[in-house]
Amino acid sequence: MRAVINTADGIRTAEVDDPGEPGGQWVRLAVAAAGICGTDALLAGAGLGGFVYGHEFAGVDEAGRAWFVEPAIYGGECAQCRSGNTQRCTEDGHGHLGVFRDGGMAEAVVVPEYTLLALPAGLDVKDACLVEPGAVAWHALTRAQVRPGERLLVVGGGTIGLLAAAAARHRGLEADLEARHAHQLAVAELLGAGRPSGAYDVVIDAAGSASSLARAAEAAVPGGRILPLGVYLETMPVPGSAVSQVKELTYVNSIAYGRHNGVREVEQVASMLAAEPEIAKALITHRFSIEDAREAFRVAADRQAGAIKVVIEPGPTTRS
Ligand SMILES: [Zn+2]
Repeated sequence: MRAVINTADGIRTAEVDDPGEPGGQWVRLAVAAAGICGTDALLAGAGLGGFVYGHEFAGVDEAGRAWFVEPAIYGGECAQCRSGNTQRCTEDGHGHLGVFRDGGMAEAVVVPEYTLLALPAGLDVKDACLVEPGAVAWHALTRAQVRPGERLLVVGGGTIGLLAAAAARHRGLEADLEARHAHQLAVAELLGAGRPSGAYDVVIDAAGSASSLARAAEAAVPGGRILPLGVYLETMPVPGSAVSQVKELTYVNSIAYGRHNGVREVEQVASMLAAEPEIAKALITHRFSIEDAREAFRVAADRQAGAIKVVIEPGPTTRS
């Protein structure tokens, strides 16, 4: 079957071994759509390979039912898993599909049954890859404990930033969004986010750079909370005493998603996307067939091309 891998020559569509027929608690899906995440570009840029890329995906089983795949792999037995924080699993083998193990940018996947989430009515399987980044944003809002009436700013107009603004509004919160590119600001406005003004109780840094983190600290009120959502492979550039310490800012880390009171965050996000189909319509700007994965990655990295979420559709039919 065809799949997207990273090689010495960069991202390629290649023929790989079929994952075969599952046994036990495993399910085979034909992948309908897989999103390209900034993390994928980061891993590819770092030269990491040996696995099929893609941790944002959804597909259809052999009975024709559509599923989102929550790509988190965890043991379920450790204290963190038992408390619902499966994203903090400490057991051997925890991680994510599509990161050092085969993911969803392929014609077919075999995944553990516990990763599956049945799609609610109204959420197209080809849009459901947005549930994963949506859950990252949703979890950040929960971690930040944003309360109604607090002022929230999102720095960064990529998929995660825009989904954070959309999720905030869906949860009855007001959010402003600051972005670099005109097409990002246009989508932010479409999703109901305001333009930045004044200081904020909570700032989500969804851009993940030294300058965006500095901007987040600058925009926060004294005593404010900062949510750094970027992926930092080494040191996170937290602004120093002139800002962070004088204001006594609190930095709240947030990674992936889990469960709150037994409810899967991915399920809450799937409900949001089903109830507000305009979110997926606005965010998914490009769709490519699997043969064109290399070009898809190029477009995803090119903010000037107007890309927000670029999706690879391994299935036989591709919408444009
Ligand atoms: Zn665990």
